Amino acid sequence: MVNSMISSGVINLYIDPDLYMLFFPINYRARIYWECVYTFLYVKKLNIMKFVTDRMLGKLSRWLRLFGYDTLEIKKQENEDDTLLALAEKEGRILVSRDRVLVRKAIKRGIRTYPVQSPEIMEQLREMQGEFGISIEPQLDRCTLCNSVIRKVKPEEMELVRAKDYVYPDRLGEGTEFWLCDNCGQVYWQGRHWENIMERAERLKK
Ligand SMILES: [Zn+2]
Repeated sequence: MVNSMISSGVINLYIDPDLYMLFFPINYRARIYWECVYTFLYVKKLNIMKFVTDRMLGKLSRWLRLFGYDTLEIKKQENEDDTLLALAEKEGRILVSRDRVLVRKAIKRGIRTYPVQSPEIMEQLREMQGEFGISIEPQLDRCTLCNSVIRKVKPEEMELVRAKDYVYPDRLGEGTEFWLCDNCGQVYWQGRHWENIMERAERLKK
């Protein structure tokens, strides 16, 4: 009798948590609550994708940082592949590479990996969009050179900006906001280069 109930699926009435919830409205509300929490965490997870790229993808790394993604790139060194793989494993980073051998090694170790196909930066970004649904919204959140989080320069810190020979004097007037990377000292502002970045981002969205 019990066996026939199990095989016919009737027994599910007693053990299927979804059906159980349907019979107890209070718990059903609790289920909706937990589903909301789960969805929130899932969306958060998408937003906190972290990457590590091989040295051939320096431009792509800088663009990913520009879109706010934590993206590491390692310098030329001995055992470069092992260092990259260890970093991806330890920090839960997605390995992005054009090196087929490295990609194969990563897959073998169960590391989430994306083998970039195109040598051209805009195409590479399109690939990343297609694969990970990355957000194409340039933001001044992260240093494109060293990946550290950047911050707005306070009015009393303008000496730091004046000391940079790449900041045009006409930019130092009132109205221009600056951002600073405390790690490497790079200064950012939304000048003509920023307009170019926005233009390219708009093209990527089409
Ligand atoms: Zn920096």
